[in-house]
Amino acid sequence: MKANVTYWLDQTADRLPDKVAFADERKAVTFGELRSQARALAGQILARGFFKSPVAVYMEKGVDMLVSFMGAAYSCNFYSPIDIGMPASRVDKILEVLQPSLVITTAALRDTFAQYAYQGDYLIFEEAVLLPEDGQIVDSARDRGIDTDLLYVLFTSGSTGIPKGVTISHRSVIDYIDWVTETFQITKEDTFGNQAPFYFDNSILDIYSTIKSGATTYIIPKNLFAQPVPLLEYLRENQINTIFWVPSALIVVAKLKAFRNVDLSDTLRRVLFCGEVMPNRQLNVWRKFLPNVLYANLYGPTEITDACTYYIVDREFSDDEPLPIGVPMANTDIIVLNGQDKPVAEGEVGELCVRGTSLSMGYYNNPEKTGEVFVQNPLNPHVPEIIYRTGDLVKYNEYGELVYLSRKDFQIKHMGHRIELGEIETAVSSLEEIALCCCLYDEKRQKIVLFIEEQLDKAYINERIARLVPEYMLPNKVITLETMPINANGKIDRVKLKEYL
Ligand code: AMP
Repeated sequence: MKANVTYWLDQTADRLPDKVAFADERKAVTFGELRSQARALAGQILARGFFKSPVAVYMEKGVDMLVSFMGAAYSCNFYSPIDIGMPASRVDKILEVLQPSLVITTAALRDTFAQYAYQGDYLIFEEAVLLPEDGQIVDSARDRGIDTDLLYVLFTSGSTGIPKGVTISHRSVIDYIDWVTETFQITKEDTFGNQAPFYFDNSILDIYSTIKSGATTYIIPKNLFAQPVPLLEYLRENQINTIFWVPSALIVVAKLKAFRNVDLSDTLRRVLFCGEVMPNRQLNVWRKFLPNVLYANLYGPTEITDACTYYIVDREFSDDEPLPIGVPMANTDIIVLNGQDKPVAEGEVGELCVRGTSLSMGYYNNPEKTGEVFVQNPLNPHVPEIIYRTGDLVKYNEYGELVYLSRKDFQIKHMGHRIELGEIETAVSSLEEIALCCCLYDEKRQKIVLFIEEQLDKAYINERIARLVPEYMLPNKVITLETMPINANGKIDRVKLKEYL
């Protein structure tokens, strides 16, 4: 059986043509409309001769972006969302890696996109969706696809300043979403409240669970995440019963105890989260106000299709205990390797490595970075078998559940965003006034701290690097030192710098 996520859309559109699939602030699209508009786009993509090629989608977050993703999928091409809020130089770098064959955008954004070096074809969304669909071309293209063909490329922070494009196939998403919909029993009666940007892998759960099961997803306006009470009111008004957010978003609600103003006890059923540590202190606030909700901690990097372990919260935790990341999802194997690449002994800390269908095929157009983390399974000397080394240090607790401890490297999570501190350092180093710099993350205060030797203030530096890195990567604090401490190897002494935090 050939597999392409759009077969799910065909089935759901046959079953529930008039049900709303996705809604944003401006409009809603039914499953029937989603299918016909996406197929119209697919026809246009194929008419230009593109097949198994990268399609960049440069649009404001909303339902039209999802139609575009499905258009790429129907035509057996793969999509890559480009965030319109990202600094131009970073978009340039992404385009250089991706080398898109086609850009789907709107008439209004077409001019903005013209600033980039891209010379290829465009599809103007609002024009293309109106064109009649040639069903036969679309069907025969899709018939030629196979399940290991790419569905999307999501770009994440790269330590050298070049974002890495994580490639994911149809098969990996099908495997993951089958698990999600079965485990959480998602049906057409369910309504999601989407928080994740579409360039962030958490959105995969909302998008494809909806398409597969005939649920509905409301794309929550971003500004509501800074206003917990209106945010909860939005959930209630739209009868949202399932949310899958980054812990940062849940923490804001817990801190302000917004539940006192808005009662969600008869609407909200599932609170799922993934992407960073969820502190029990804040989760306990949620649990106190909404005790009958199912809470689940999902864990995983983009490279293994959103999540690979999970823990459904089933016991009490004190505020200072860590919440486990649990056990592997179906059809996924987790291997925890020690420094000698052997499975860890009881109580030993090791690196979490993943084996299975969920694995990315690697970073797009980047064999070097791919080879560093997608490696031969050291426990299998018999046949080629790739595992993904996450860089996350974990151990097993007394229940046999995995517990996340820390990172092995300089990757951090800040307000839900995955950031390589090296990417910020590369941007700062590009300023001619700066000779030496180093970035650390102050976990306790949740601040990115930049160390330099020059008398320059934060506003000055951030104004200059804002054209190189997204806003969420801008340092929250700048510390000027007379001289940067250097360790025995001649490198910046990060251990010493930690004392200044
Ligand atoms: P991303 O690729 O943006 O999803 O980021 C993946 C990284 O986020 C992982 O390698 C972890 O370091 C961190 N992460 C994801 N989920 C969790 C979780 N539930 N608990 C702790 N850290 C997490």
